[in-house]
Amino acid sequence: MNDGTAEDLAGGLFDGRDDGRDDDCDGHRVAVLLPLPLATPYDYLAAPELGLARGDIVRVPFGHREADGVVWGPGSDELPTAKLKPVARRHDVPRMSEELTGLIDWVASYTLAPPGSVLRMAISVPAAFDPPAPTIAYARLNQDIEPPELRPQIRMTPARERVLRVLADGPAMTGPDLAREAAVGSGVIKGLVQTGAIARVELPAAPPVSPPEPDHPGPALNTEQQTAVAALLSDLGADLGAGAFSVSLLDGVTGSGKTEVYFEAVAEALRAGRQVLVLLPEIALSAQWLDRFRARFGTVPAEWHSDLTQKRRRETWRAVAEGTVKVVVGARSSLFLPFRDLGLIIVDEEHEQAFKQEDGVRYQARDMAVVRASLAKVPIVLASATPSLESLANVERGRYRHLRLRDRHGAAEMPDIIAVDLKRDSPERGQWLSPPLVTAIAGALDRGEQSLLFLNRRGYAPLTLCQRCGFRMQCPNCTAWLVEHRLVGRLQCHHCGLASRLPKACPDCGTEDSFVASGPGIERLAEEVMIRFPAARFQLVSSDTLHGPAAAAEFVRSVREREVDIVLGTQIVAKGYDFPHLTVVGVVDADLGLAGGDLRAAERTYQLLEQVSGRAGRHEHPGTVLLQTHHPDAPVLQALVVGDRDSFLAEEMRARREAGMPPFGRLVAIIVSAPDADLADQIAISLGRSAPHYSDVLVLGPAPAPLALLRGRHRRRLLLKTGREVNVQKVVRDWLAGIKIPSSVRVAVDIDPYGFL
Ligand code: ADP
Ligand code: ZN
Repeated sequence: MNDGTAEDLAGGLFDGRDDGRDDDCDGHRVAVLLPLPLATPYDYLAAPELGLARGDIVRVPFGHREADGVVWGPGSDELPTAKLKPVARRHDVPRMSEELTGLIDWVASYTLAPPGSVLRMAISVPAAFDPPAPTIAYARLNQDIEPPELRPQIRMTPARERVLRVLADGPAMTGPDLAREAAVGSGVIKGLVQTGAIARVELPAAPPVSPPEPDHPGPALNTEQQTAVAALLSDLGADLGAGAFSVSLLDGVTGSGKTEVYFEAVAEALRAGRQVLVLLPEIALSAQWLDRFRARFGTVPAEWHSDLTQKRRRETWRAVAEGTVKVVVGARSSLFLPFRDLGLIIVDEEHEQAFKQEDGVRYQARDMAVVRASLAKVPIVLASATPSLESLANVERGRYRHLRLRDRHGAAEMPDIIAVDLKRDSPERGQWLSPPLVTAIAGALDRGEQSLLFLNRRGYAPLTLCQRCGFRMQCPNCTAWLVEHRLVGRLQCHHCGLASRLPKACPDCGTEDSFVASGPGIERLAEEVMIRFPAARFQLVSSDTLHGPAAAAEFVRSVREREVDIVLGTQIVAKGYDFPHLTVVGVVDADLGLAGGDLRAAERTYQLLEQVSGRAGRHEHPGTVLLQTHHPDAPVLQALVVGDRDSFLAEEMRARREAGMPPFGRLVAIIVSAPDADLADQIAISLGRSAPHYSDVLVLGPAPAPLALLRGRHRRRLLLKTGREVNVQKVVRDWLAGIKIPSSVRVAVDIDPYGFL
């Protein structure tokens, strides 16, 4: 059990682990961890000739079926041998490294998730355990060595001749390729195989991507970038060869070219023959990132995210395990891939909340990436224009090295940021664009430049209510209003996905056609934009309109090629994109993020607004950002307008330190949920009553969660707040062990919570 905080993960904690894996399991019993929510591994008998050791992937009988699992260590002596079943077989796949098995143990004990649930993320593609089926191809035989009279006597037809001609001067071809090239059916090919004129051959499976070239010519770096690369490599250079752990925070303003800088570290790892993992928060939208990788390394990396086909997942998992794939770019789950020789990890946009998984195993992929780097004894680079307070605190503590890029690349300047006071410059009634913002968009249109309007609200209107009685359409399963999506003619719940039609009559007062939309969503704002700027070419972008990587790539292309004048979108367009002709950014409601008021509201609002502002004026034309607000004096907005990040962060740090909040204290959320409200209350109250009493440990709640009803379950929350030195895992484990939980009640533990709903 560790007793550090997530930010303490940097080394030193694993020194006691012995590495004598080959002696681990030479007895007759092995403990096998199965990818199921089980607290411990199960014992099995192992035939000595299997030569099993920790990390071997095996097939074992389990109940009335068989399951795949991983040898976790020697078995115990608890059960009599007669009760144990034998391991059925060992899969022909590289043994899982101690670095990965150790990571799984670490994540499980840190998050209090069952180890089997963590393992499940690492062996998510069981089909990859079998060697890939070889590709079947056809080749012409004997054509040079055998004299004509010994060649098989076959009846020639024009179709057969075409096949032989195609194969005569080329390598072996797959059936479909050959059939297409020779314009024949598959029967002709089969017939030729029977005559012996051509043969069926097996080709080894090719790796899913070709190897990146570290010395492929990339863009020439500017002076500031060169300095950063030199600093990065002077430390990494040794580390990449010698196997040392270090963390660098690459902190550079939007448009400063951080990607090009960390690409040099990637190149260095590739030259050393090692593998690289790049974690991105939203991989499905990384079309531009992939283009830049190709420009720098001559080929695309392997991707790892939920949009891959099953075949691609299988090939990629196996190629990563065998070491034939050198660079993987992926979402958080790629952290659990079985790298054979990992030499470097990059976490881009490290501040992003998307790195925190909010269901199942609740882990923070950025923090666990630091753990993996430390177990693998390799460097890790965290990159962001708006680093998290957690990472900045680690810089202050001297744990992370700080590399800064203060200027945009080339001639580009940071944009001008203006707060528009909605009390003074209010939009017309029923509209949301203030006169200064309308003027700015019109100016961009005149100059042939592009604008981005940002509103983080999907759908037509956040609220639909009866004009007569005030009744609001609410989700029956969740504490949430239904959101009208006019484009698809539905009301939707953004929490459980429920979709229904707007009723003709109000369910409460019976008045017909009485519903009105209240407040703007992007679909409603779109109407205003189209009426105001009828000649402008306009595109609406949200998770409802942009499905998957191909749609994202098409969106990027259309904006870059100036087929669009105004983009209107949610946070999906706020980050990462680089559009050379985009010069005006309008934030429709800059106060939106501050409303919820959780611990990180100010930090997150700052990051989001800085990121969206960072889309303006990234190339030769200067950018302007207008933030529409009712609170122009709020510290977050002031910091953005004045461009004073450091004093905003210093103030935020001071407030957190004083309140003992992360990163200076620790939080654990306990979420009790049940189909029945009384039962949820009952368990939550008894948890509250038995709350631990230690110095430096405070238990808040129970209280109904803000989302008191979610997907039909009633939810109550407790929050544990402690000092940094407290071993919260032990406190929570002991606490929960004392309470009997009925099977219909779920108690979820969220260590270092980011969401408070
Ligand atoms: P950041 O990630 O820091 O916001 P990017 O890495 O996206 O910045 O770089 C901003 C823009 O500048 C991109 O269009 C990128 O291609 C370009 N760029 C960065 N560095 C260079 C360079 N050395 N030479 C040419 N273009 C560069
Ligand atoms: Zn719902």
